[in-house]
Amino acid sequence: MIKPTRVLDLLARPLGVVRLSLTAKCNLACPYCCPESIEPPGLLHTRDQLRLIQAACQLGAHTLRLTGGEPLLTDRLWPLLDALSLGRQTAAHPFSRLKEVAITTNGSLLDDERVRRLRAAGVDRITISLDAVDGASIARMAGLRSGPEAGNALLERVLAGIDAARAAGYNPAHGSLKLNAVIQRGCNDDQLIPLAQLARQQGLQLRLIEYMDVGNRNGWCRDQVMPANEMIQLLHRHWPLQSIGRQPGGTSSQWLYQDGEGSIATIASITEPFCSDCNRLRITADGQAFTCLFASEGLDLRPWLRMEVSDSELAEVMAQLWTGRSDRFSEERGLMQKGNHHAEMAYLGG
Ligand code: SAM
Ligand code: SF4
Repeated sequence: MIKPTRVLDLLARPLGVVRLSLTAKCNLACPYCCPESIEPPGLLHTRDQLRLIQAACQLGAHTLRLTGGEPLLTDRLWPLLDALSLGRQTAAHPFSRLKEVAITTNGSLLDDERVRRLRAAGVDRITISLDAVDGASIARMAGLRSGPEAGNALLERVLAGIDAARAAGYNPAHGSLKLNAVIQRGCNDDQLIPLAQLARQQGLQLRLIEYMDVGNRNGWCRDQVMPANEMIQLLHRHWPLQSIGRQPGGTSSQWLYQDGEGSIATIASITEPFCSDCNRLRITADGQAFTCLFASEGLDLRPWLRMEVSDSELAEVMAQLWTGRSDRFSEERGLMQKGNHHAEMAYLGG
């Protein structure tokens, strides 16, 4: 096994997390995200995905998060997971350095069989996105044209998916099953308390995400951002909370319910940016490496994959990308003009 090299960027931030998008397509159409209806040309083959993950492990990555679009839409997920699982069980393999493999999904396709397959293939954590509990709001937030019935049907599928995940061994008390919700002022802020209620009943941690200005298509405006501290104040009136802070390199600030009923988290990328210890590398389904969620362009890694360079040469290309990185867009947001082009959220994988 080649010795791992811990790479630091220009702001002394190590590489820790790889977010690999498996597809840009989605079966939902959340208006804050606006996914593509077609894949970008030149999707990575499983072999190439594995080589890139391996190179990232070589450079210090300890966590892999699989995302999309909707990652459960593509069958390419399964051979990737099988190979990862095998590598993680082999002592000398770079994948054995992965402490965690996680997946972010909208939960709509999370049935018993898929959950069991995820578990069997060693996926450690599942994060499910759900932005409301009321049929009409779910339909609006998920871009379902057929209204409240479709929203209620989606809620039922997601709840069944949560049950299936729990039955398969994903224990929310150990953090292996969580809920994500984007809160958009004027759209679903009335769902904040009901969502927290649902998560408490289910014993799940809810992670409340500020509406972000990723991409060009969602028509983002700051007025629709509900700051995390406002969300926390609202919640605190219902259930007193105690802050326990943010882990270094993490995205979420954590809060304990003082009544002992678990915890809740906020992801305040707009109002309390966490660029200073950002450790995330994003790789899109077509092999573009992005060192910031708010970047306009990534580095196309496919030419190196096509050239059949050695594993260590590929790791060197990625090391150069990381060591040359100085992005801190969220911290600089106030100082910058928004350019003409920003990559879309469903393409980047969130
Ligand atoms: N389809 C999967 C899902 O929804 O969980 C995975 C991909 S999705 C792009 C990943 C995460 O990004 C989701 O939790 C979603 O809510 C979040 N997201 C998408 N657009 C966003 C935006 N404009 N602001 C904040 N979060 C966003
Ligand atoms: Fe699809 Fe996830 Fe984007 Fe919603 S947030 S449209 S579920 S990729």
